[in-house]
Amino acid sequence: MLIKSAEVIITSPDRNFVTLKITTDDGITGLGDATLNGRELSVASYLKDHVVPLLIERDPQNIEDTWQFLYRSAYWRRGPVTMAAIAAVDVALWDIKAKQAGLPLYQLLGGASRNGILAYGHASGSELPELFDSIRTHQEQGFRAIRVQSGVPGLRAIYGVHAKVEPVPGDDRDDHYEPAQRALRPPEEDWDTRAYLRHLPTVFEAVRNEFGPQLPLLHDGHHRMTPIQAAKLGKALEPYDLFWLEDCTPAENQEALRLVRQHTTTPLAIGEIFNTVWDYQLLIKEQLIDYVRSAITHTGGITQLKKILEYAGQYQIKSGIHGPTDISPVGFAAGLHLDLAIHNFGIQEYMPHGAKTNAVFEQSMTFTDGYLHPGDKPGLGVELNVDEAGKYPYQTAYLPFNRLADGTVHDW
Ligand SMILES: [Mg+2]
Repeated sequence: MLIKSAEVIITSPDRNFVTLKITTDDGITGLGDATLNGRELSVASYLKDHVVPLLIERDPQNIEDTWQFLYRSAYWRRGPVTMAAIAAVDVALWDIKAKQAGLPLYQLLGGASRNGILAYGHASGSELPELFDSIRTHQEQGFRAIRVQSGVPGLRAIYGVHAKVEPVPGDDRDDHYEPAQRALRPPEEDWDTRAYLRHLPTVFEAVRNEFGPQLPLLHDGHHRMTPIQAAKLGKALEPYDLFWLEDCTPAENQEALRLVRQHTTTPLAIGEIFNTVWDYQLLIKEQLIDYVRSAITHTGGITQLKKILEYAGQYQIKSGIHGPTDISPVGFAAGLHLDLAIHNFGIQEYMPHGAKTNAVFEQSMTFTDGYLHPGDKPGLGVELNVDEAGKYPYQTAYLPFNRLADGTVHDW
């Protein structure tokens, strides 16, 4: 079996997605997700210019060898563009191998370790009544675990809060929270860490009083705190028994988590912007985190994330695979197959895609009573409808950035 062709497809139904479609000489196709939010065209170019020509005539069955070849032969290793491109190839080859075997992909990863995949949804509100409504809506949809993001008095727009996103002219997407905005420049938001630290514990106190002690609650700090601020927040949130506090400090500084860890028993999750096992080396070895947040799409594919999670499992660190809407249904499905197969599964983020995206990507996954399942079709269980994809050309879109009150750029 040889790879006959590889095609990069860019489509923008509700947002931009980059998909790699590999076809073998006996007509089996495999899909991989190469979407890097706000830098989509760079990965598309990396694939088209430097990877696709190397794939033609290779044996698609040798997944590990292809992964090592793409990683090591580039000489310039790691980084989100390179690793998203490698991930797309890796996932497409796993899709082909599972289709060739006539099995859903999770069977090739060891089979199912559980009946379903516990998912958490994103609830938010600029103020408490709106937040409570959002939590109730998610519970009605079946979610058994909820991420809580709240507005902060005095701040105009804030990460994760639906109501504060201003509509942009020409943006005709369905009404849903999508941080990347279709515009020629990144939107600017404001930030005040002290105001956030004062306000957030009062939000969790109110949510616990309203919804009781059992509902698993999560929160994303989105890289905005210093280590001592994160330690303070983790401590302040202890009475509200969070499932996790995510990305409390900027992820580049692994040592920062030592300080946070010394001060709080609030579980910590990190890693959505990591690319390789090396980004986790200290965090796992020193048991500084509780959950691995990587997405298959940004971490070099199933081959790499499986290794990270096996390493994490030695220290009772569990998975929390990244699943926002900037992971395409292809990348999301790949995560579900891994979730189902690994032993140290923790939870899966689930931010449903819009109707247009679901028409472009035909999926076999299900969401029932709070649990996801990738389905039992051979391969990933996702097919790309090329005609639908062709209706939505690429549109420039950027994630926002933050400025403090004095104009200083801050982590978003
Ligand atoms: Mg996050």
